Amino acid sequence: MVTQAVPAPARWSNWGATYSCTPTRIASPASEDEIAAVVRAAAERGEHVKVIGSGHSFTDIGCTDGVLVKLDRYHQMLDVDRAAMTVTAQAGITILQLSDALAHFGLAMENMGDVGYQTISGAISTATHGTGEKLRNISSQVVGATLVLADASVLKCSETEDRAAFKAAQVSLGALGVLSTVTLRVVPAYYIRSLQQPKPVDELLDRFDELTQENDHFEFFWWPHTTWAQAITNTRTLEAPATALLRKGFGSYVSDILLENHTFGLIQRAAQVNRRWIPRLAGFTARTMSRKEMTDRSDRIFANERLVRFAEMEYAVPRSELVQAVRDIRGMIERTGFLVSFPVEVRSVAPDDIPLSPAYGRETGYIAVHVFNKFEYAPYFKEVEAIMNSHGGRPHWGKLHFQTAETLRPRYPLWDEFIAVRDRLDPERRFGNDYLERVLGAGKAKEVRPRAKRTTAARRVKTKS
Ligand SMILES: Cc1cc2nc3c(=O)[nH]c(=O)nc-3n(C[C@H](O)[C@H](O)[C@H](O)COP(=O)(O)OP(=O)(O)OC[C@H]3O[C@@H](n4cnc5c(N)ncnc54)[C@H](O)[C@@H]3O)c2cc1C
Repeated sequence: MVTQAVPAPARWSNWGATYSCTPTRIASPASEDEIAAVVRAAAERGEHVKVIGSGHSFTDIGCTDGVLVKLDRYHQMLDVDRAAMTVTAQAGITILQLSDALAHFGLAMENMGDVGYQTISGAISTATHGTGEKLRNISSQVVGATLVLADASVLKCSETEDRAAFKAAQVSLGALGVLSTVTLRVVPAYYIRSLQQPKPVDELLDRFDELTQENDHFEFFWWPHTTWAQAITNTRTLEAPATALLRKGFGSYVSDILLENHTFGLIQRAAQVNRRWIPRLAGFTARTMSRKEMTDRSDRIFANERLVRFAEMEYAVPRSELVQAVRDIRGMIERTGFLVSFPVEVRSVAPDDIPLSPAYGRETGYIAVHVFNKFEYAPYFKEVEAIMNSHGGRPHWGKLHFQTAETLRPRYPLWDEFIAVRDRLDPERRFGNDYLERVLGAGKAKEVRPRAKRTTAARRVKTKS
C-alpha cells in the first residue's frame, strides 16, 4: 500500500538551513486514511510523528527523531462554498497553489504574508501573518478543520463543534495532531496597487500611525547603518488594472529576480569577505532603492521571491509600543556596533482571539530582524529579544527565539486552555519534539520512547559581529 512509510535515514534540513534532523523514515500519504495509517504504525513502533510543510520555519519546530510526514501528495482544493464564501482544501496545499485555484473561481485569500511557498497547514500552525491594521493573520481565516489524532481517529472541529479544540488548532505549533483538511473564509478576488519608495526612516516612524490607518497594507524595511527605509503601501481594488501596470513577464523578472535577489545576494557575499564593509554596502543598497509602482492580482503582489537564504527572528509587540521598540533596536545597533547586512521589517496586524496567536487580544505591531544564513545570528537576536521582552513581546512560532514555556506562559492569557486541549488530544506527546518540549513544556506527557538523537543546530559560519 502507498501509505507504507519508506525507511529514510536521509537528513532533513529547513529552508534557512538553521536546523536539521534525521527522521527514522519519511512518509508521503495521499489521503486521510493513509495519514491515519502512518500515525497508527508509528504509534505501534513507539515513535514520534511530525508533519512538515515547506520547511519555511527557522526553528527546530519541524524536526523529529521519529517519522517525518510530508503532505506533498495531499494538496488538492476540495470544495468551494460560494454562499458561505469558504474553501476547503487538503492541508498540504501551498498558499501559491491555493491562490491559483481560488483565482479560477474569482476568489482570493483575505490576506497573506510576503511569500507563498508555505503550506496552508504550516502557515496556520505558526500564525503566519501579513500586514494591515484591520486584517488578522491566516489562522483567523480558518473556520473549520479535521485532524488525525494520536490514536489515528479523525476529529472535526469548528466554532460550533468542539470549539476548544478548534481554537487550539487555529495556532497549534503542530502539537495536537495532523491537520488533514482546513476550511478557510475567502473574499472576492481583488487586485493590489503597490507603491514602493525609499523614505527617511524617521519620517516613517513619526507617521506610522497615520500611514497604517490610511492604507489597507503598510510596511517598511529599514536598512541598519543608514537613515533610509523602503516603504511599501498596498491598496486593495476590485478593478482590473490597465495592462501596462501589470507586473508580469521579463520586466518583473529583471526587477524582482535580477536586481532585488541577485544584487542583494552579491552584497551578502561581499559582506562575507569583510564584515566591516557592511555599513558602506548598506549605504549603497539604500541609494539603489527606487520608486516602483505596479498593480496585479493580490497574491502576485504579496508573494515575493526570496532567493537569498537567511535566519530570522520576529516579535509581536503591543501596537502602541511598536515605534519605540524599533527606535530601541536602532539605538542598540549603534551602541553595540553589530554589523547587520539585512533590513529590519516593520508591520502591523489586527488583534484576534486565538489562544496561542501572538496577536491574541491586542492591536499588534510586528518587528522582524534577519541575518544572512552564513553569519552567526545569536548575539544580535539575543539583544533584540531583550528589547522585545521589555515591550511584552511574543515571538513568532516559526522564527528563531530563545524563550521557554516558563517565559512564554505569562504572555498568553489562554495558555492553560491550550495545554488542556493538548493533554486531551495528545496525552502521550506522539506529536512532540524538542522544540515543543522547550516552548510548551513536557506537561503530563509520558516518555514515548527514549530519545536516541537530539536535533542539532546546523553548522553556522562564525564571524565577528
Ligand atoms: C522566506 C520566508 C518568508 C516568510 N514570510 C513570512 C511572513 O511574511 N509572515 C509570517 O508570519 N511568516 C513568514 N515566514 C514564516 C513562515 O510563514 C512560517 O514559518 C510557516 O510556518 C512556514 O510554513 P511551512 O509550510 O513551511 O511550515 P513548516 O515550517 O514546514 O512547519 C511549521 C509547523 O507547522 C506544522 N505543520 C505543518 N503542516 C502541518 C499539518 N498538516 N498538521 C499539523 N502540523 C503541521 C509543523 O509540524 C511545524 O510545527 C516566512 C518564512 C520564510 C522562510
